[in-house]
Amino acid sequence: MDATAAADWGEHSERVRRLGQEVGRNGHVLVPASASATDAAAWAMLRTPSGCRLLVLPVPPHAGVFAEFEGERTEVGGAPALIAPLTARNAAALRRHHPWLVPRPLPAATSAGFGDRLGLATPGHARALRAAGGSIAPVFAQQSIREMSRTARSPQAVVDDATWGSFEAGWTAGQGADADHLKTADDITACAAAGFTMFTIDPGEYVNRDADVMTPEELRAAWDALPWAKLDDTPSSMRARLAGLEVDADGEHVVLDEGALVKAAVKYGRAVAHVADMHRHLAAVKSGQGFDLEVSVDETDTPTTPAEHVFIVLELRRLGVRWASLAPRFVGRFEKGVDYLGDTAAFDADIRVHAAIARALGPYKLSLHSGSDKFSIYDIAARHTKGLIHVKTAGTSYLEALRAITLVSPALFRSLYEFSRTQYERDRASYHVSASVAGAPDPAGMADADLPALLEDFHARQILHVTFGSVLTARAGDGRLVFAGDLRSALLANPEIYETCLERHFVRHLRPFAGR
Ligand SMILES: [Zn+2]
Repeated sequence: MDATAAADWGEHSERVRRLGQEVGRNGHVLVPASASATDAAAWAMLRTPSGCRLLVLPVPPHAGVFAEFEGERTEVGGAPALIAPLTARNAAALRRHHPWLVPRPLPAATSAGFGDRLGLATPGHARALRAAGGSIAPVFAQQSIREMSRTARSPQAVVDDATWGSFEAGWTAGQGADADHLKTADDITACAAAGFTMFTIDPGEYVNRDADVMTPEELRAAWDALPWAKLDDTPSSMRARLAGLEVDADGEHVVLDEGALVKAAVKYGRAVAHVADMHRHLAAVKSGQGFDLEVSVDETDTPTTPAEHVFIVLELRRLGVRWASLAPRFVGRFEKGVDYLGDTAAFDADIRVHAAIARALGPYKLSLHSGSDKFSIYDIAARHTKGLIHVKTAGTSYLEALRAITLVSPALFRSLYEFSRTQYERDRASYHVSASVAGAPDPAGMADADLPALLEDFHARQILHVTFGSVLTARAGDGRLVFAGDLRSALLANPEIYETCLERHFVRHLRPFAGR
């Protein structure tokens, strides 16, 4: 194949079809959407009985490309070819030839993060984005350190799985990669090395959860004890600068009176200092390369008031921090995997002010964490944020994988669900959930056809949602993975079913935000 032919190859369905026939002789299936051509080679994803493989048909001379990839030399249609496993080395080489696979900072416009605990969901996410229309910028690789350790995945594996998935889907429109809920400088270093471009700093441990219930005397004492040196500030200069400050934000009037200032500083002062530390480290580690910083205080107990939001961002800016998005703790409850719990009118009033502040003092995006399944508030959030929003979902792709399993392997689903019920009380500890095992249906008396309905049950859904780590790492006495292997093979054997489940579910998340 010469260079011109290779360049045309990706666009010519007839060529792709013929190549598909050619590889079909070996029992391989070529994924048409993945077919692409560069100066160096023609490329496609193959499904084989032993899992997905990268097919490379180099443009002569072949030596350079063959040396870059590890795999098996073969011939396809008389031309030398390589069948390459989905390894880290091959992912890095594939990104060198396809710059659109390299994660990059997001545009200052609507974006969506799709956590993917199994590493197989990106093609379904791409389908949902295409079906939703608009121009929502995706983050396919998104995982918190907590979830990486629960699923025994490395930061590099998370990035590489998104590389393979977007290659398979032919997603050329760019993508970010979000290292979510980072708590330490070491987390940042490891994730930057793996190619992440978005860094969500979670200073939750530095938020003073008692500030809302302290007496005035206690607040005074806590104010005096703030880390003033780290804040590069003094009590009197902070008071002179901020007490009585009034912000007019797009029709919203926010006042930081003396009392509100002291409470905001006590509640968030240490968190601000920590974010500034982390930002300095991040800027050093990524020296010269662009990145998106997100500041998230969503996993704290009490809502972030408008005055506190103003305090946080003015102080971050004074300390030299630059951020792309902020996740306040909104009013109401954002539990995992279920709709918003609370008064939607109160949420409307709350996000209206936060969005106005984000426009006036930024602009930066508001980030909606635990954003999956919050169908009753998407329109409200989309209306007030006017395109400056990031919607972050995490475990819901795992739930859609389980929905696919109810359809293709009911017996596997039953044993997995039984196991999840036994793990829930322990696994729920670090998540915002309120389901109970007693409230969840017992699968023993259920027909197979009724199993998918468990994915709509509040209790069963949360139980399945937070037990993913136990399920994916459970091992039998002989060391064999109890569920993870079977789960992955069932999904790999039925990609169409899994992708359809994902598309149907996520299009409902994305449509309210598309076209804004
Ligand atoms: Zn979060």
